[in-house]
Amino acid sequence: ATPTAVMVATGKGASQGVLIKGGYALEKAHKASGLQKGISRASTFCPSVKTVIFDKTGTLTVGKPVVVNSMIFSQVPVHHLCEIAAAAEANSEHPLAKAVVDHAKKLRQQYGLQTEHSEVNDFEVHPGAGVRGNVKGKAVLVGNKRLMQKFQVPFSPEVEEYVSDTEHQAQTCVLVAIDGAISGAFGVMDPPKPEAEHVISYLKSMNISSIMVTGDNWSTATAIARKVGICTVFAETSPVGKAEKIKELQTKGLTVAMVGDGINDSPALVAADVGMAIGAGTDIAIEAADVVLMKSNLEDVITAIDLSRKTLSRIR
Ligand code: ADP
Ligand code: MG
Repeated sequence: ATPTAVMVATGKGASQGVLIKGGYALEKAHKASGLQKGISRASTFCPSVKTVIFDKTGTLTVGKPVVVNSMIFSQVPVHHLCEIAAAAEANSEHPLAKAVVDHAKKLRQQYGLQTEHSEVNDFEVHPGAGVRGNVKGKAVLVGNKRLMQKFQVPFSPEVEEYVSDTEHQAQTCVLVAIDGAISGAFGVMDPPKPEAEHVISYLKSMNISSIMVTGDNWSTATAIARKVGICTVFAETSPVGKAEKIKELQTKGLTVAMVGDGINDSPALVAADVGMAIGAGTDIAIEAADVVLMKSNLEDVITAIDLSRKTLSRIR
Protein backbone atom coordinates (compact mmCIF):
# COMPACT_ATOMS: atom_id res chain seq x y z
CA ALA A 1 0.00 0.00 0.00
CA THR A 2 2.88 2.31 0.72
CA PRO A 3 4.08 2.98 -2.84
CA THR A 4 0.47 3.65 -3.88
CA ALA A 5 0.00 6.26 -1.18
CA VAL A 6 3.22 7.87 -2.29
CA MET A 7 2.13 7.94 -5.92
CA VAL A 8 -1.25 9.32 -4.97
CA ALA A 9 0.42 12.08 -2.96
CA THR A 10 2.78 12.99 -5.77
CA GLY A 11 0.00 12.90 -8.36
CA LYS A 12 -2.32 14.92 -6.19
CA GLY A 13 0.40 17.48 -5.58
CA ALA A 14 1.07 17.76 -9.30
CA SER A 15 -2.61 18.27 -10.09
CA GLN A 16 -2.68 21.10 -7.54
CA GLY A 17 0.40 22.69 -9.01
CA VAL A 18 2.82 21.47 -6.34
CA LEU A 19 5.57 19.49 -7.99
CA ILE A 20 7.37 17.13 -5.62
CA LYS A 21 10.64 15.92 -7.08
CA GLY A 22 11.70 12.27 -7.07
CA GLY A 23 14.17 10.10 -5.18
CA TYR A 24 16.74 12.53 -3.92
CA ALA A 25 14.28 15.01 -2.46
CA LEU A 26 12.37 12.30 -0.67
CA GLU A 27 15.55 10.77 0.67
CA LYS A 28 16.64 14.14 2.02
CA ALA A 29 13.29 14.68 3.71
CA HIS A 30 13.49 11.16 5.11
CA LYS A 31 16.90 11.78 6.65
CA ALA A 32 15.64 15.06 8.02
CA SER A 33 12.70 13.50 9.75
CA GLY A 34 14.82 10.89 11.51
CA LEU A 35 12.11 8.25 11.07
CA GLN A 36 12.92 4.57 10.72
CA LYS A 37 13.71 2.91 7.44
CA GLY A 38 10.57 0.76 7.42
CA ILE A 39 8.41 3.78 6.73
CA SER A 40 8.18 5.02 3.16
CA ARG A 41 10.50 7.84 2.28
CA ALA A 42 7.80 9.91 0.69
CA SER A 43 5.63 9.52 3.75
CA THR A 44 8.20 11.48 5.66
CA PHE A 45 8.16 14.36 3.22
CA CYS A 46 8.23 17.43 5.48
CA PRO A 47 5.79 16.21 8.16
CA SER A 48 7.67 17.87 10.97
CA VAL A 49 8.52 21.25 9.50
CA LYS A 50 8.56 23.73 12.39
CA THR A 51 10.08 26.70 10.64
CA VAL A 52 9.62 28.16 7.19
CA ILE A 53 12.28 30.55 5.94
CA PHE A 54 11.14 32.93 3.24
CA ASP A 55 13.30 34.90 0.85
CA LYS A 56 11.90 38.40 0.40
CA THR A 57 12.24 39.61 -3.19
CA GLY A 58 10.17 37.56 -5.63
CA THR A 59 9.09 35.18 -2.89
CA LEU A 60 7.15 37.21 -0.30
CA THR A 61 6.90 40.13 -2.70
CA VAL A 62 5.43 40.21 -6.20
CA GLY A 63 8.95 40.43 -7.62
CA LYS A 64 8.00 43.07 -10.16
CA PRO A 65 9.45 46.19 -8.59
CA VAL A 66 8.70 49.59 -10.04
CA VAL A 67 10.74 52.79 -9.80
CA VAL A 68 8.53 55.15 -7.78
CA ASN A 69 10.92 58.06 -7.32
CA SER A 70 14.37 59.25 -8.31
CA MET A 71 16.96 61.73 -7.10
CA ILE A 72 19.92 63.42 -8.75
CA PHE A 73 23.10 64.15 -6.79
CA SER A 74 25.09 65.63 -9.69
CA GLN A 75 24.82 67.78 -12.82
CA VAL A 76 23.69 64.83 -14.91
CA PRO A 77 20.18 65.28 -16.41
CA VAL A 78 17.74 62.67 -15.12
CA HIS A 79 17.08 60.97 -18.48
CA HIS A 80 20.82 60.70 -18.97
CA LEU A 81 21.27 59.06 -15.58
CA CYS A 82 18.48 56.62 -16.42
CA GLU A 83 20.03 55.82 -19.79
CA ILE A 84 23.42 55.03 -18.25
CA ALA A 85 21.92 53.01 -15.38
CA ALA A 86 19.69 51.08 -17.79
CA ALA A 87 22.65 50.29 -20.06
CA ALA A 88 24.59 48.91 -17.08
CA GLU A 89 21.57 46.82 -15.99
CA ALA A 90 20.62 45.60 -19.47
CA ASN A 91 22.33 42.22 -19.04
CA SER A 92 21.16 41.58 -15.48
CA GLU A 93 18.32 39.18 -14.74
CA HIS A 94 17.60 40.80 -11.39
CA PRO A 95 14.05 42.19 -10.97
CA LEU A 96 15.53 45.51 -9.80
CA ALA A 97 17.46 45.70 -13.07
CA LYS A 98 14.21 45.26 -15.00
CA ALA A 99 12.67 48.10 -12.98
CA VAL A 100 15.53 50.43 -13.92
CA VAL A 101 15.39 49.42 -17.59
CA ASP A 102 11.60 49.90 -17.72
CA HIS A 103 11.86 53.27 -16.03
CA ALA A 104 14.41 54.48 -18.59
CA LYS A 105 12.12 53.30 -21.38
CA LYS A 106 9.17 55.17 -19.87
CA LEU A 107 11.20 58.34 -19.48
CA ARG A 108 12.45 58.11 -23.06
CA GLN A 109 8.84 57.99 -24.24
CA GLN A 110 7.83 60.82 -21.92
CA TYR A 111 10.63 63.06 -23.15
CA GLY A 112 10.05 61.95 -26.73
CA LEU A 113 13.69 60.91 -27.01
CA GLN A 114 15.01 58.61 -29.67
CA THR A 115 15.75 55.09 -28.58
CA GLU A 116 19.47 55.41 -28.29
CA HIS A 117 20.99 52.30 -26.79
CA SER A 118 24.26 52.58 -24.94
CA GLU A 119 26.43 49.50 -24.84
CA VAL A 120 27.95 48.07 -21.69
CA ASN A 121 31.47 46.66 -21.61
CA ASP A 122 33.27 44.60 -18.96
CA PHE A 123 29.93 43.82 -17.34
CA GLU A 124 30.11 42.16 -13.92
CA VAL A 125 27.42 40.86 -11.57
CA HIS A 126 28.01 41.26 -7.84
CA PRO A 127 25.45 38.96 -6.22
CA GLY A 128 23.52 40.60 -3.40
CA ALA A 129 25.02 43.97 -4.29
CA GLY A 130 24.44 45.04 -7.90
CA VAL A 131 26.24 45.36 -11.22
CA ARG A 132 29.34 47.05 -12.61
CA GLY A 133 30.24 47.95 -16.17
CA ASN A 134 31.69 50.54 -18.53
CA VAL A 135 29.16 52.69 -20.37
CA LYS A 136 30.37 55.35 -22.84
CA GLY A 137 33.87 55.09 -21.38
CA LYS A 138 32.62 55.71 -17.85
CA ALA A 139 32.85 53.28 -14.93
CA VAL A 140 29.27 52.68 -13.79
CA LEU A 141 28.04 50.99 -10.61
CA VAL A 142 24.35 50.28 -10.02
CA GLY A 143 23.35 48.70 -6.74
CA ASN A 144 23.20 49.07 -2.99
CA LYS A 145 25.41 50.55 -0.31
CA ARG A 146 27.42 47.35 -0.08
CA LEU A 147 28.37 47.66 -3.76
CA MET A 148 29.43 51.29 -3.29
CA GLN A 149 31.51 50.38 -0.23
CA LYS A 150 33.15 47.56 -2.14
CA PHE A 151 34.37 50.09 -4.70
CA GLN A 152 35.11 52.77 -2.09
CA VAL A 153 32.56 55.26 -3.39
CA PRO A 154 32.04 58.00 -0.74
CA PHE A 155 28.62 58.91 0.71
CA SER A 156 27.45 62.49 1.23
CA PRO A 157 24.90 63.28 3.98
CA GLU A 158 22.29 63.97 1.25
CA VAL A 159 22.78 60.50 -0.16
CA GLU A 160 22.56 58.95 3.32
CA GLU A 161 19.29 60.81 3.90
CA TYR A 162 17.74 59.70 0.62
CA VAL A 163 18.76 56.10 1.27
CA SER A 164 17.22 56.04 4.74
CA ASP A 165 14.03 57.85 3.59
CA THR A 166 13.32 55.41 0.77
CA GLU A 167 14.12 52.38 2.91
CA HIS A 168 11.78 53.39 5.71
CA GLN A 169 9.01 53.54 3.12
CA ALA A 170 9.66 49.85 2.33
CA GLN A 171 11.40 50.80 -0.90
CA THR A 172 14.78 49.59 -2.08
CA CYS A 173 17.25 52.34 -2.86
CA VAL A 174 19.21 51.67 -6.05
CA LEU A 175 22.30 53.88 -6.20
CA VAL A 176 24.05 54.88 -9.41
CA ALA A 177 27.73 55.83 -9.34
CA ILE A 178 29.54 57.26 -12.35
CA ASP A 179 33.35 57.37 -12.25
CA GLY A 180 33.51 56.86 -8.49
CA ALA A 181 30.86 59.38 -7.39
CA ILE A 182 27.18 58.81 -6.64
CA SER A 183 25.27 60.63 -9.38
CA GLY A 184 21.73 59.65 -8.55
CA ALA A 185 19.43 57.07 -7.05
CA PHE A 186 16.08 55.38 -7.50
CA GLY A 187 13.44 54.42 -4.95
CA VAL A 188 12.04 51.08 -6.06
CA MET A 189 8.86 49.56 -4.67
CA ASP A 190 8.09 45.87 -4.69
CA PRO A 191 4.83 45.24 -2.83
CA PRO A 192 4.10 42.03 -0.86
CA LYS A 193 2.09 39.31 -2.64
CA PRO A 194 -1.62 39.65 -1.80
CA GLU A 195 -1.74 36.21 -0.12
CA ALA A 196 1.47 36.62 1.93
CA GLU A 197 -0.07 37.94 5.13
CA HIS A 198 -2.75 35.26 5.23
CA VAL A 199 -0.25 32.45 4.60
CA ILE A 200 2.02 33.62 7.43
CA SER A 201 -0.88 33.77 9.90
CA TYR A 202 -2.19 30.38 8.76
CA LEU A 203 1.25 28.82 9.28
CA LYS A 204 1.28 30.35 12.74
CA SER A 205 -2.04 28.64 13.48
CA MET A 206 -0.35 25.36 12.44
CA ASN A 207 2.40 26.13 14.99
CA ILE A 208 4.90 26.81 12.23
CA SER A 209 6.99 29.94 12.58
CA SER A 210 8.04 32.10 9.65
CA ILE A 211 11.36 33.87 9.22
CA MET A 212 12.54 36.25 6.50
CA VAL A 213 16.07 35.99 5.14
CA THR A 214 17.08 38.54 2.53
CA GLY A 215 20.04 40.13 0.86
CA ASP A 216 18.20 43.44 1.02
CA ASN A 217 18.88 46.04 3.72
CA TRP A 218 17.47 46.01 7.26
CA SER A 219 15.02 48.93 6.95
CA THR A 220 13.32 47.74 3.75
CA ALA A 221 13.29 44.16 5.00
CA THR A 222 11.75 45.09 8.36
CA ALA A 223 9.15 47.32 6.69
CA ILE A 224 8.04 44.47 4.40
CA ALA A 225 8.16 41.92 7.25
CA ARG A 226 5.84 44.13 9.30
CA LYS A 227 3.38 44.30 6.39
CA VAL A 228 3.14 40.49 6.14
CA GLY A 229 3.33 39.70 9.87
CA ILE A 230 6.84 38.23 10.14
CA CYS A 231 8.66 39.07 13.37
CA THR A 232 12.05 37.47 12.75
CA VAL A 233 14.20 38.98 10.02
CA PHE A 234 17.75 38.39 8.85
CA ALA A 235 18.70 41.10 6.36
CA GLU A 236 21.85 41.96 4.41
CA THR A 237 22.58 38.25 4.12
CA SER A 238 24.79 36.85 1.36
CA PRO A 239 23.73 33.71 -0.56
CA VAL A 240 26.11 31.59 1.55
CA GLY A 241 24.93 33.42 4.68
CA LYS A 242 21.35 32.34 3.93
CA ALA A 243 22.44 28.68 3.91
CA GLU A 244 24.42 29.19 7.13
CA LYS A 245 21.34 30.64 8.86
CA ILE A 246 19.47 27.46 7.97
CA LYS A 247 22.23 25.20 9.28
CA GLU A 248 22.25 27.21 12.51
CA LEU A 249 18.53 26.51 13.02
CA GLN A 250 19.03 22.85 12.14
CA THR A 251 21.72 22.44 14.81
CA LYS A 252 19.06 23.63 17.26
CA GLY A 253 17.08 20.57 16.20
CA LEU A 254 14.55 22.35 14.00
CA THR A 255 13.29 20.96 10.70
CA VAL A 256 13.48 23.83 8.26
CA ALA A 257 11.75 24.51 4.95
CA MET A 258 13.14 27.23 2.70
CA VAL A 259 11.08 29.06 0.08
CA GLY A 260 12.98 31.03 -2.54
CA ASP A 261 13.13 32.06 -6.16
CA GLY A 262 16.62 33.28 -7.00
CA ILE A 263 20.11 32.06 -7.83
CA ASN A 264 21.03 33.66 -4.51
CA ASP A 265 18.67 31.24 -2.73
CA SER A 266 20.07 28.05 -4.21
CA PRO A 267 22.63 27.27 -1.46
CA ALA A 268 19.83 27.74 1.13
CA LEU A 269 17.37 25.61 -0.88
CA VAL A 270 19.94 22.81 -0.87
CA ALA A 271 20.78 23.23 2.84
CA ALA A 272 17.13 23.20 3.97
CA ASP A 273 15.38 19.98 4.97
CA VAL A 274 12.85 20.86 2.29
CA GLY A 275 13.65 23.42 -0.40
CA MET A 276 10.64 24.95 -2.15
CA ALA A 277 11.17 26.99 -5.30
CA ILE A 278 8.75 29.53 -6.72
CA GLY A 279 7.77 28.26 -10.18
CA ALA A 280 8.33 31.65 -11.75
CA GLY A 281 11.82 31.74 -10.24
CA THR A 282 15.18 31.14 -11.86
CA ASP A 283 16.06 27.71 -13.27
CA ILE A 284 18.93 27.37 -10.81
CA ALA A 285 16.58 27.74 -7.83
CA ILE A 286 14.13 25.24 -9.34
CA GLU A 287 16.98 22.79 -9.84
CA ALA A 288 18.19 23.23 -6.25
CA ALA A 289 14.72 22.71 -4.73
CA ASP A 290 12.86 19.57 -3.65
CA VAL A 291 9.42 21.01 -4.33
CA VAL A 292 8.34 23.45 -7.04
CA LEU A 293 5.34 25.71 -6.44
CA MET A 294 4.18 25.82 -10.05
CA LYS A 295 1.59 28.56 -9.56
CA SER A 296 4.08 30.78 -7.70
CA ASN A 297 1.38 31.26 -5.09
CA LEU A 298 2.46 31.16 -1.44
CA GLU A 299 -0.77 29.33 -0.49
CA ASP A 300 0.93 26.28 -1.95
CA VAL A 301 3.50 26.25 0.85
CA ILE A 302 0.53 25.19 3.00
CA THR A 303 -0.69 22.76 0.30
CA ALA A 304 2.73 21.07 0.28
CA ILE A 305 2.88 20.73 4.05
CA ASP A 306 -0.76 19.56 4.24
CA LEU A 307 -0.24 17.01 1.51
CA SER A 308 2.68 15.44 3.33
CA ARG A 309 0.75 15.24 6.60
CA LYS A 310 -2.21 13.56 4.91
CA THR A 311 0.08 11.08 3.16
CA LEU A 312 1.69 10.25 6.47
CA SER A 313 -1.60 9.55 8.22
CA ARG A 314 -2.82 7.40 5.31
CA ILE A 315 0.27 5.23 5.47
CA ARG A 316 0.14 4.89 9.21
P1 ADP B 1 16.82 39.09 -2.12
O1 ADP B 1 17.57 38.22 -1.16
O2 ADP B 1 15.89 40.00 -1.42
O3 ADP B 1 16.15 38.31 -3.23
P2 ADP B 1 19.23 39.77 -3.65
O4 ADP B 1 20.20 38.96 -2.86
O5 ADP B 1 18.92 39.33 -5.02
O6 ADP B 1 17.88 40.06 -2.80
O7 ADP B 1 19.79 41.24 -3.73
C1 ADP B 1 20.10 41.93 -2.56
C2 ADP B 1 20.28 43.39 -2.82
O8 ADP B 1 21.39 43.61 -3.71
C3 ADP B 1 19.12 44.05 -3.52
O9 ADP B 1 18.11 44.42 -2.64
C4 ADP B 1 19.80 45.26 -4.15
O10 ADP B 1 19.99 46.27 -3.19
C5 ADP B 1 21.15 44.71 -4.56
N1 ADP B 1 21.17 44.25 -5.96
C6 ADP B 1 21.39 42.99 -6.40
N2 ADP B 1 21.38 42.93 -7.74
C7 ADP B 1 21.11 44.18 -8.19
C8 ADP B 1 20.97 44.77 -9.49
N3 ADP B 1 21.08 44.06 -10.63
N4 ADP B 1 20.70 46.09 -9.55
C9 ADP B 1 20.56 46.83 -8.42
N5 ADP B 1 20.70 46.34 -7.18
C10 ADP B 1 20.98 45.03 -7.04
MG1 MG C 1 14.62 36.53 -4.38
